[in-house]
Amino acid sequence: MRVVVTGGAGFIGSHLCERLLAEGHSVVCVDNFATSGPQTVAHLNDHPRFRLDCRDVSEGLSVSGQVDTVFHLASPASPADYLRLPLETLRVGSAGTWNALDLAAAQGARFVLTSTSETYGDPTVHPQPESYWGNVNPVGPRSVYDEAKRFGEALTMAYRRERGVDAKVVRLFNTFGPRMRPEDGRAIPTFIRQALRGEPLTVTGDGSQTRSLCYVDDIVDGLMRMADSSHSGPVNLGNPHEVTMLELAQWIVKLTDSPSDIVSIPRPADDPTRRRPAVDLARELLDWNPLTPVEHGLRETIRDFRRRIDIDSPFGEPARRPLTVLNGTGRR
Ligand code: NAD
Repeated sequence: MRVVVTGGAGFIGSHLCERLLAEGHSVVCVDNFATSGPQTVAHLNDHPRFRLDCRDVSEGLSVSGQVDTVFHLASPASPADYLRLPLETLRVGSAGTWNALDLAAAQGARFVLTSTSETYGDPTVHPQPESYWGNVNPVGPRSVYDEAKRFGEALTMAYRRERGVDAKVVRLFNTFGPRMRPEDGRAIPTFIRQALRGEPLTVTGDGSQTRSLCYVDDIVDGLMRMADSSHSGPVNLGNPHEVTMLELAQWIVKLTDSPSDIVSIPRPADDPTRRRPAVDLARELLDWNPLTPVEHGLRETIRDFRRRIDIDSPFGEPARRPLTVLNGTGRR
């Protein structure tokens, strides 16, 4: 099959492109490098079935020749990125999704939207099933991402109903793995980067807020299964293994054998307190389960970061001023 992956040079997109090529498909990766760079897919450039098309999908999306599937991943995803690019995020979630759906409609292709657990906002239901409509602040700073994704979901379902497009929605929960940008602001890359450099790990608030962490290979597997299924979704994809941010920081200090302390910095506005996916639907409809133990995924990610720190160092934003030491190792 010939597959278009928008946002294919990003963290998840690059792993998806690899998997598609490994399964024998041809891949057109469309990306404007808003939150990535060509280096993420540099190792694929010489592949005879891989093509990189550098363009902004919000401006339009035409791909010549047959297209069988469109995976639409293009969007800033880390809070630091979408707060830095608020209008671009709203635009790619709306106009970009529209253009990607138009391409699928014109080609008779399947379409998969990577939506997000952020559509649940700061949830009042725990764990979050797909039937929960969410608790999103529509005017807060995070709304540029949350509402763009909610609009994208509505648009995807409208194309399914009105234009007969085989269009589906998956809601991804926190995903991690090799090739994340060390400076992208998300908890795992930030903690690993800080731990490897012996800097304090900056946990927001008292670190009691939770996230559920899923290794990227499992998410890619879920995306492939969703494309092949006849279900429209939305379907949650994530690992129900829930940890507090303080536990995560302690875990990373241990795995990196770092001398770093763990300190507290202010929590951002509208930061969700708890996050855990209900994945019964993914199990039932897609026969999907997250198989990678979180610790194995963390070790793989740390190994990748060690390699890149050696090449790229120094990188990352300057450490923010710590407020309170939550957990001192006494080894600094
Ligand atoms: P990422 O930032 O690494 O990748 C996103 C890619 O989209 C980047 O390569 C970026 O350059 C590209 N992009 C952004 N705007 C574009 C535009 N206008 N035109 C073309 N390309 C554009 O993020 P990621 O973590 O790989 O996330 C991929 C998708 O999965 C996103 O849609 C995100 O919302 C969704 N998602 C990710 C997570 C997660 O934990 N990583 C969780 C929920 C949802």
